Amino acid sequence: MKLPSLNVQILLGAMFGVGLGLYFHSLGAENHIVQTGLYMSGLVGTLFIDLLKMILIPLVFCSITVGIANLRQHQQIHHVWVTTLLFFVSSMAIAIVVALAASNYFKPGAGLHLAMFQDAMQNFEAKQLPLPEFFAQFLHGLFLNPFTALSQGNVLAVVTFALILGITLVMGGERFKNILALLQEGLEVTMHIVSWVMRLAPLGIMALLIKLIAVQDAAMLSTLAKFVAVIIGSTLFHGVVILPLILYLFTGRSPLWFWRGARESLITAFATSSSSATLPVTLRCTTQHLHVKPEIAGFVVPLGATINMDGTALYEAAAAIFIANLAGIELSMAQQLIVFFTAMIAAMGAPGIPSAGMVTMVMVLQSVGLPAEAIAILLPIDRLLDTLRTAVNVEGDMVGSLVVQKLVMQKST
Ligand code: ASP
Repeated sequence: MKLPSLNVQILLGAMFGVGLGLYFHSLGAENHIVQTGLYMSGLVGTLFIDLLKMILIPLVFCSITVGIANLRQHQQIHHVWVTTLLFFVSSMAIAIVVALAASNYFKPGAGLHLAMFQDAMQNFEAKQLPLPEFFAQFLHGLFLNPFTALSQGNVLAVVTFALILGITLVMGGERFKNILALLQEGLEVTMHIVSWVMRLAPLGIMALLIKLIAVQDAAMLSTLAKFVAVIIGSTLFHGVVILPLILYLFTGRSPLWFWRGARESLITAFATSSSSATLPVTLRCTTQHLHVKPEIAGFVVPLGATINMDGTALYEAAAAIFIANLAGIELSMAQQLIVFFTAMIAAMGAPGIPSAGMVTMVMVLQSVGLPAEAIAILLPIDRLLDTLRTAVNVEGDMVGSLVVQKLVMQKST
């Protein structure tokens, strides 16, 4: 019997995962079948994420270095670099505007009483994260001994070193051609391993989704239903309308074509809630299904996975307004502008791991004097909201690489 394509298997895995998760939820946590099922899905889901993480660092290192080195001329690197950053900042800015507009219009949190959440807040101690300190920490984290960065799996520091190495290889030209050839083969080898890991993706994704859905706290979700609806609605709006529209305007590509090529990566991001863990899959989709040149994708996608987070930026801004509403504080235009900028910085600084956005959100709240402890209210539902925002984060990286490729090719012809 011929199996359906991997793409279809992943979609089926996701659907089964959601279905079984709902079934387990209805049976209740005490049920034996549920307990065994959750144990098994925990095992398989973690194995899948571990395998992706195993290959992540060698892949990022090789793909950025080779990507930069293959851009060859200095001029081309400059174009890709500037266009990429401009794209990242603009798409995150649009995401935050969507969040602010939706939150101001629907006012989630207004009328809910903060006292209801007092217990959660009392047991939670927020780490101080003032903006200047956050910035200093971010800068400090960029430059690390490359061996430390590689061994600790510090994606941002690996990206920085790989960028510098790639530029050095371009400058050195012929002299360093052996190192470049070695890294090029390294990239091919890692991509091979990714394709093996992907065979486990349908099962891994199914397992992650079963666990995610079966353990959701339905009571908490219904108390915060309006906020959840605003977040899901505006994140979907950004992912289904804004990003595809940007893609269409710049490249003429249809949303369906994009969805078909990007599906593996979007579903993996949804199930893992980690842009970093999804990165190997994203690179594979971008180069193999969406046909972005490896030298462009190899640069834009790994950089995007660490700093381009539309979904997170949107969430941080919307959550700040929600908490202000809860506390009965009306944020002025000037304060909303501060939220706009800090949400962008906080999203850029959040690593691509589950719930990272919650940690950097403390900074956004503190910037306008909101109680940082209030994120304790959001923590119980974060795993659920993180699914969609991570998928949109990853979507932004893939759309970005297509747009950058188009713009850079137009300039160089
Ligand atoms: N989980 C997100 C990501 O990996 C980051 C966040 O928590 O917003 O992209």
